[in-house]
Amino acid sequence: MSENQEASPPSPIEIIKDNSNYLRGTIDESLADPLTGGMRATDQVLIKFHGTYQQQDRDLDEERKRQKLEPLYSFLIRVRVPGGVTTAEQWLAMDSLSDQYGDKTLKLTTRQAFQFHGVLKRNLKKTIQEINKSLLDTIAACGDVNRNVMCSANPYESPVHNEVAEDARLISAYLTPHTNAYHEIWLDGKLIEGGEKEEEPLYGRLYLPRKFKTAIAIPPRNDTDVLSNDLGFIAIVENGKLTGYNVTVGGGMAYTFGNKDTYPRVADVVGYFPKELIVEVAEAILIFQRDHGNRSERKNARLKYTVDRLGLDFLRSEIKRSKGISLGPPHKYLFDTMGDKYGWIKSPDGLWHYTVFVEGGKLVDKTGYSAKSALREIAQIHQGTFILTGNQNVVIAKVSESQKPFIEHLLKKFRILNPAKISLLRQNSIACAALPYCGLAFAEAERYLPKLIDKIDKVLEANDLLKVPISIRMTGCPNGCGRPFLAEIGLVGRAPGYYNLYLGAGFTGDRLNKLYKEMVTEDQIIDILTPILENYSKNRFNEEHFGDFVIRNGYIKATIDGKNFHE
Ligand code: SF4
Repeated sequence: MSENQEASPPSPIEIIKDNSNYLRGTIDESLADPLTGGMRATDQVLIKFHGTYQQQDRDLDEERKRQKLEPLYSFLIRVRVPGGVTTAEQWLAMDSLSDQYGDKTLKLTTRQAFQFHGVLKRNLKKTIQEINKSLLDTIAACGDVNRNVMCSANPYESPVHNEVAEDARLISAYLTPHTNAYHEIWLDGKLIEGGEKEEEPLYGRLYLPRKFKTAIAIPPRNDTDVLSNDLGFIAIVENGKLTGYNVTVGGGMAYTFGNKDTYPRVADVVGYFPKELIVEVAEAILIFQRDHGNRSERKNARLKYTVDRLGLDFLRSEIKRSKGISLGPPHKYLFDTMGDKYGWIKSPDGLWHYTVFVEGGKLVDKTGYSAKSALREIAQIHQGTFILTGNQNVVIAKVSESQKPFIEHLLKKFRILNPAKISLLRQNSIACAALPYCGLAFAEAERYLPKLIDKIDKVLEANDLLKVPISIRMTGCPNGCGRPFLAEIGLVGRAPGYYNLYLGAGFTGDRLNKLYKEMVTEDQIIDILTPILENYSKNRFNEEHFGDFVIRNGYIKATIDGKNFHE
């Protein structure tokens, strides 16, 4: 911690962590309390490190208040899936748990994780135990630690993809907290009283100042939005071989409305290193943030603010000091999209892989469209794996030539949307969970974005833009779970039915957008976008992306870096 940081008192969350005995707190007692469906306030902080958040069904708040009942508390559980790769058995287990203990939906997150919503306190432990029985877990899926490590989808696409996916697993394993509290509390590993004497060699007693997100991308596809992460790696491939990585530092999406000291930020590309050093580089940067991050003011605690406060040269010198690694100049790379490759592709080993579009990452059975049942039936016969993508979609991977017709039959039977029939705007859309469960949401996101896209699609159709890729993302608040500030059309909830509209991001995830109009309704969004899209249709350069067009035509200024986001 730097000198001026030492002078400021630690934030209340730091004190909760300090007093928690390596994340135990009184979680056991909170779980056992039959008088409430919720947890004690301090335990609500600590359970995040175990992969769960307390939420409440906000749709029912008024009615519950009238009945003089406490809110209907329930829990989100996030399942860590490094690189997003799961077996068919694991898929079936998650599907069944969401029906048994959740709200019968399964959310595929923007960080290649599964998420259950609506789990009641009395079912929390059973659900986490079942998740662990399927050889997945929830530790460090949330909290002030390194989260689920993302990786460009589909390790089977090429030997390089496979090698990079293995690196993602290595980093994930190395940066996972060591505390036994998880086993004691959820898996009946006993010893809960004072917990056994233990140490967190990497994190220490206070863990990190804030959440820490890591991703790897393999150019030309930036499907992990690598520059939105605290720590990122861009694979450098020369003559078909992985030689090393460019390391990127200081990305992050969240800001607070009205607070200009907070801002989203695109990561800096800090330097290059040979591939065998990836775990050491990851560790050095995590330690840098552990020791220098702001532990007094959580709104400024992410690595992006540490980097802006202390500078990249200091970061590089710390990597050299702690690990003896001198980063070289970044190697050249080129991204051409943040999106997924939908439909079938064939890998060099002759196997097939099908990317299914899952709108808003929400697997649910609706009239006329049963994505959840479809993937369940596919999992029952599938001999390969499933891969969750960073765009909330899923790849049915490793399908043999002989099995392909059976998978195709099921995709048709359940009317899984054919990517060729979806506008490229919808294909490049992301929505966070928001209402009804997220306590921070000001407005709808995943329940509403599909309907808004229906309307924007009509404008696109009238202007012959349905097959032009444009990215759109919506979140219920500026915390940025759906990475809205890297979308060419970003919409962030301000109040029920009102959104801030942001324009001008780069299509490949390399430039933030900027606020274009505040507090707009659906009608206003359509009215604002229509003439801009008409102009784009008529006057864009060949292959010019929408985000670049609105800057070139003076609709909005380019955001050069995070600190310039509000200007
Ligand atoms: Fe909730 Fe905001 Fe995250 Fe959406 S972006 S899930 S509203 S915290």
